[in-house]
This record gives sequence, structure tokens and C-alpha cells, in this order.
Amino acid sequence: MKFADLHLHSHFSDGTYLPAELAAHAQRCRLAAIALTDHDSVEGCPETALACAAAGVEFIAGTELTAEQDESELHLLGYFIDMQNPTLLTRIARCQAVRQDRIREMVARLNRLKVPLSAEAVFALANCQAPGRPHVARALVKAKLCSSLDEAFERFLKRNRPAWVPKFKMSAVEAIGLIHQAEGVAVLAHPGLNRTDDVIPSLVEAGLDGIECFHTKHSTATSEHYLELADRFDLLVTGGSDCHGLSKGKPLIGTVKVPYQHVEKLRARAAEIKAAALPRARP
Ligand code: AMP
Ligand code: ZN
Ligand code: FE
Ligand code: FE
Repeated sequence: MKFADLHLHSHFSDGTYLPAELAAHAQRCRLAAIALTDHDSVEGCPETALACAAAGVEFIAGTELTAEQDESELHLLGYFIDMQNPTLLTRIARCQAVRQDRIREMVARLNRLKVPLSAEAVFALANCQAPGRPHVARALVKAKLCSSLDEAFERFLKRNRPAWVPKFKMSAVEAIGLIHQAEGVAVLAHPGLNRTDDVIPSLVEAGLDGIECFHTKHSTATSEHYLELADRFDLLVTGGSDCHGLSKGKPLIGTVKVPYQHVEKLRARAAEIKAAALPRARP
């Protein structure tokens, strides 16, 4: 039986693994396919595609867009996206600029609290275009200004703590449209984490293709609940570990995986989206 882990982060967002490490772990876990889904980034896709090809693992180009609906944060996964799509790249570049400005603002707030961290230290450590709070937390620990990542979040970075800065997010409907115009399949990530069942009908209306039923933080009951919703709304089913490498304890790659038939359904949907997009792309 073939399996796939469809939710992985690399050091191109807030994961710690290099593409070659992801590919090697995937091979060791006997995964037939993996998808890279870095936050607001597709930067790691070309290198991960090459590493996977060398390791004999199928690679699916993906991303995890940060979005919001009715003031709650939602994550939308895009699968089989065209990594060169100019509109996607332009929009992602804007998200990344917003993320970088937010880091500067969080650091300014820390400095006002007499915590002597520099934005440059965070950017150097993050070494990617899509930095976020985990990188600020790691920089605080590295500079010995906090003793642990947990302490950094608890004291400074959690929502409504003194260095927390809200993040501008595109709407969920815009994220779905952006994924579709990049020929990708749009999937709602870990709905069990966001308690967002009430938004699902409007996302389906906007063209949502699938729902991530299997996830590290979903209990069996939660997964079953979303399998039922997927059935009711005629949505594709996906799943993955949401592995961030070594940054959140033990590496999770391969601990949540879905039968390969779900990859085949995703691929078929991607082909339909691409075919539907073609006439519009012609002058
Ligand atoms: P951001 O997108 O910059 O707001 O950061 C979100 C990331 O921070 C997610 O990957 C979360 O897993 C992580 N995060 C949020 N809260 C905490 C926390 N209390 N401890 C550790 N990581 C957290
Ligand atoms: Zn993350
Ligand atoms: Fe997420
Ligand atoms: Fe994720």
C-alpha cells in the first residue's frame, strides 16, 4: 500500500529541515509522495522537487496560505500549484513583505520592553523570505534573552502579549482564487485547530476543493467528523503531519499519512482546474 504525507514545512518557512533532509526522511518512512506546504512561500519547491526525484519520492508542489474569514485565521493549502505562476508569486511576495515588516515591529516592541534583540538577528536566523513568530522565539533563545521557545511565546509573542503584532491576512476567498488561478487544488488545513466549521459552506461556495481530515492535532473523532463533512460537501480528503523538522520536538514526517488514492484524486482535480483555466488564459 502506498502512502503520502501532504503537509510538510522546510527551512524556507518555519521548519528546520533542508529539502534534502525532507526527501531522505520521506524515503526512510517509505512515503510514495510528499507535498511541501511552507507558509506563504513556494521558494523551497524547486529544490525539494530535485531532492525527491533523486530519492525516488514523488513530489507535489504546495503552499500553505495564511488567510482569514470572519476575523478567524484559516490556513489554505494549495496542491499541484504552478510554482512559476506570476500572480501567485507577486501575491506571495507581498505577504512576505508584510511578514518582514511585522518582524521589525515585534522587535521594536521588544526593544521598548528593554529586550535587546535586533531585527537583523531574526532575519539572519530565519534565512528565508517568510519569517514569523517562531523565528523571533528562536532568536530570543539563541541570544539567551529567553530560556525556551515556550517562554518566548508566553512572555512576549502570544496573542495579546506585549510583543505580539497582528498579521494582515488575505481573505479565505481570495486565497482559494489565488490557488485556482495558479492551477492548484485548494484545501482547508487542519479545520479542527481553528474551530471554523461554520465558515465551510461559504468556502465551498468560493470553490474549496478539499479538507484536511487527517492531521497531527486531530483526534480520531475529529478526523471522522471532517470525513463526514467532506462527504456531505463532496470535498476531497487530504492529510499530513504538519512536520516542522526539529523545531517542535520530534520530527513528525510520516506520522500522519494518507493512502495514495487521495493523491490520485487531487491530481485529477488539478487537471480539471488547469483545463478550466486554459480558455480564460487565451487572449
Ligand atoms: P505567525 O505565523 O508568525 O503568527 O506564527 C505562527 C506559528 O507560531 C505557528 O507555526 C505556530 O505553531 C507557532 N506558535 C504559535 N503559538 C505558539 C506557542 N505558544 N508556542 C510555540 N509555537 C507557537
Ligand atoms: Zn509553521
Ligand atoms: Fe497551518
Ligand atoms: Fe503547516
